[in-house]
Amino acid sequence: MTQIPPPGSPRGRLAPSPTGALHLGNARTFMIAWLSVRSRGGTLLLRMEDLDHPKNKPGAAGAALDDLRWLGLDWDEGPDIGGPHAPYTQTQRRTHYARALETLRARGLAYPCVCSRRDVEVGQSAPHAEDGLFYPGLCRGRFADYEAARRVLHPGRLPAWRFRVPEGETVRFEDGFHGPCAQQVDALSGDFVLARDPDGAGYMLAVVVDDAAMGVTEVVRGDDLLPATPRQLLLYRALDLAPPAFIHVPLVVSEEGRRLAKRHGDTRIGALRAAGLAPEQVIGLLAWWCGWAAWGERLTLRELLPRFDLATLRREPAVLTPQVKAALKIQDAGGDDARLSSK
Ligand code: GLU
Repeated sequence: MTQIPPPGSPRGRLAPSPTGALHLGNARTFMIAWLSVRSRGGTLLLRMEDLDHPKNKPGAAGAALDDLRWLGLDWDEGPDIGGPHAPYTQTQRRTHYARALETLRARGLAYPCVCSRRDVEVGQSAPHAEDGLFYPGLCRGRFADYEAARRVLHPGRLPAWRFRVPEGETVRFEDGFHGPCAQQVDALSGDFVLARDPDGAGYMLAVVVDDAAMGVTEVVRGDDLLPATPRQLLLYRALDLAPPAFIHVPLVVSEEGRRLAKRHGDTRIGALRAAGLAPEQVIGLLAWWCGWAAWGERLTLRELLPRFDLATLRREPAVLTPQVKAALKIQDAGGDDARLSSK
């Protein structure tokens, strides 16, 4: 799309991670993100979130773009087409994260930490954050500087950087789908990791830095990331950045209510393409899950656009039932229980 967006119109983003193939679950979330922005004449960017090196799969980044295009999604800026905020690939944006880390450090809001994952696990009394370990601040105030922390570690290991979470504060925000949300971050996750080493910015810091730098005004993503949002809001404030609106939408789950895994069937968009399905069938099914189409209806994204309404998006998670699997000719994949993608 090359039209000039009206002033004040939304800027959204699609942020795939190349840690697995695009499947029905993340395709549904991307579709909602696309519809939300396009229905208001806004702009969309695509950012490749490839910081999680060990989990990246070769070829997954290109395949994700290809699958999204096949479904009919488009974007105005991205790694394939460039744009005013290039680069759009996180591994090429490390200087931005290092600068933000330096700001936090200069403000006394980041400190070096030498704890291993095991140190943190041992100190764990009860499960806290659903998406990570509670960190009780063992290294808070312990080292004068990064060098001092490095000296206590074996050569070859580097300290991490953690964010100093304010004590006793409840972070509140209005989610565009879930409504009012509140979380006391120091009680739930504690001081969280900003970077695994000086150059190794993690998801939490990178996503905040990038969404702010790229002028993103709304974030539509799966509600597995709802618990991470208060941490991100603390970073926005600490870096004097304006946060976007957050809209967390239900995930696609198995019949037992579990996150989609390979054993639930091959729901990769690539597999559906290979089985000869048309994009209209897949969009129709995704739209039916949302409550915006009849069962078996085929439609393009453009046809779906006028039906988009967050107020009518079904509140329940979308379930991969035998009926859905039959309609999309989804094969049982069997095998391991590996998740289909990172989030
Ligand atoms: N890259 C993440 C994913 O693939 C999304 C992160 C976000 O939306 O904040 O799920």
